Order: sequence, then C-alpha cells, then structure tokens
Amino acid sequence: MPKHDIESVEVDRKSHVEVLFEDGVRARFELTPLRQACPCAECNARRTRDQPVAPWIDKGESITITDAELSGAWGLSLDWSDGHSTGIYAWEKLREWVDAGRVGTITS
Ligand SMILES: [Zn+2]
Repeated sequence: MPKHDIESVEVDRKSHVEVLFEDGVRARFELTPLRQACPCAECNARRTRDQPVAPWIDKGESITITDAELSGAWGLSLDWSDGHSTGIYAWEKLREWVDAGRVGTITS
C-alpha cells in the first residue's frame, strides 16, 4: 500500500471531514458512514459478528463529532456524540476507502 501524507484536514463537527492528500486528491467523508466504518478493535469485532456498529444511526438518529485531534502525523482521532472515541482514522485507511469507493468521495 502506498504511503499517504496529507496537506490539510478540515473537520466540520456536524457534517463531514475533508482531507487534502499530498498528491492533490481532496476527499470528503460524511459523518454517518465514517462512524460506521470506525476502524477500532471493538467496531471490527462487531462487524465480524454481523452486529451493527452504530444501531442508533440505523434508527435515523444523527451523529456529530464532539472532539477531533491529530494522532501524530498519521491519522485523526475522533470523539463521537454517541460516546465512542477509540477509533483512529489513519490517512492511509481513509485514502484506501475513498480509492475503493467504500467510504467518502473524491471531490477534486
Ligand atoms: Zn470503533
């Protein structure tokens, strides 16, 4: 997997996260799919067991970010309004998702 650095990241706590990668690709991640894709061990285990990662989202409730922090140079640590905060979103993971069309969209 190629290594990806970023130029900038913008967190709109009520709406989306936008990342500008070093190669000029800009990607936008809406919060609901981003929360559902949480890469932490707990959420991975839920997905493996076919349990919903965020049942409140499936019920139509909205999610927001309560805090966001860079995790060293390699990713973004997000605290969510549902109390979940163990997921660290590595830039490479975000890029992999958007390149694969799984989560997020390339906007430019
Ligand atoms: Zn998680």
